[in-house]
Amino acid sequence: MTAFWTEPDYDDHELVELVRDPKSGLTAIIAVHSSHLGPGAGGTRFWHYAEPERAMRDALRLSRGMSYKNAMAGLPMGGGKAVILADEKGTKTPEMLTAFADAVEALGGRYVTAEDVGISEADMARVAERTQYVSGLPVEGEDAAGGDPGPFTAMGIYHGIKAAVRHKLGKDSLEGVHVAIQGTGSVGGGVARLLAKDGAKLTLADIDAARAEALARELGGDAVASDAIMGVSCDVFSPNALGAILDDEGIARLDCKIVAGGANNQLARAAHGPVLAQRGILYAPDYVINAGGIISVTLEYLARTDGQPCDVNDVRERIALIPDRLETIWQESDRTGQSPDQVADRMAQDLIGR
Ligand code: NAD
Repeated sequence: MTAFWTEPDYDDHELVELVRDPKSGLTAIIAVHSSHLGPGAGGTRFWHYAEPERAMRDALRLSRGMSYKNAMAGLPMGGGKAVILADEKGTKTPEMLTAFADAVEALGGRYVTAEDVGISEADMARVAERTQYVSGLPVEGEDAAGGDPGPFTAMGIYHGIKAAVRHKLGKDSLEGVHVAIQGTGSVGGGVARLLAKDGAKLTLADIDAARAEALARELGGDAVASDAIMGVSCDVFSPNALGAILDDEGIARLDCKIVAGGANNQLARAAHGPVLAQRGILYAPDYVINAGGIISVTLEYLARTDGQPCDVNDVRERIALIPDRLETIWQESDRTGQSPDQVADRMAQDLIGR
């Protein structure tokens, strides 16, 4: 058996905790990468891992990604992430969520949780019954920030795609710009709706084919099989499903000028960033473009700990800064010849003192 700290993805994480609760059947991993800028903040993923060691890999990689994401978004939070290992059927019970919440509470604020893939607002509301270190809770009223971070993530990606189109294609409008979207869930579906309003041409895919087809019908786009989306000839490929899709094979299949989407850890390995750049494809580093959700949940969390409501306009204003951050990265990349992901990593590492 390999010790997790010898894994290539272990990056001097400050905390890696295995949570087991035989009574409820919960198995989870909570990882805090860095608390240099504040408590480790990042969502909980609920996923069935055919190979359990991939769950550890996800926890390590995703929590480091959160350190970088929070730092680059200018938030006073460190990086953390939790994964709950689901069984094949994806059984999720209230008892499991309660046991998970107790583990978060026992960390005394070192880790602050929220939604990620497979976890809903209602799940977070249950977690909040047992711990105060939680965000992304249901809110009422249009002006109240918080709740499901998906729409805020989508908003940031929409702004980021516009910035990438301006930088790479020299266009100020998305009218007729062809965007191929992988994954039409909370984030990808939201991105598609915002792009459709601006007249973008959409090609959509999801492993749940009916989901992509329904959205394509609603928005007037096309749907293709999920294994065909990466090869679609388009202006922008927007990955909004799971990570590590940009490997040798995936990059070779791309027929686009820009990769800009919300999935975490899109690059299979660090070496794939320069490979994309060599192919002349502009990359929007994932943790910079997809920060909208964490901006929302963090402002919600900080406001609640201060006993204040959180204004959605504050969230929107911060999300509107994402394009400027991307532009700074791309300009630095053009100047230095380093790929955008390398530039972003260096900026983030400077911010978290690594
Ligand atoms: P979601 O579960 O709502 O949607 C994901 C969608 O992707 C689902 O419809 C699923 O069927 C589809 N999918 C899975 N594998 C696929 C494949 N191989 N090809 C095509 N479609 C596939 O999740 P989400 O909240 O939309 O998150 C999507 C991605 O964005 C994840 O990588 C997540 O970590 C990342 N992310 C989400 C947020 C957020 O606020 N929700 C924030 C930052 C990053």
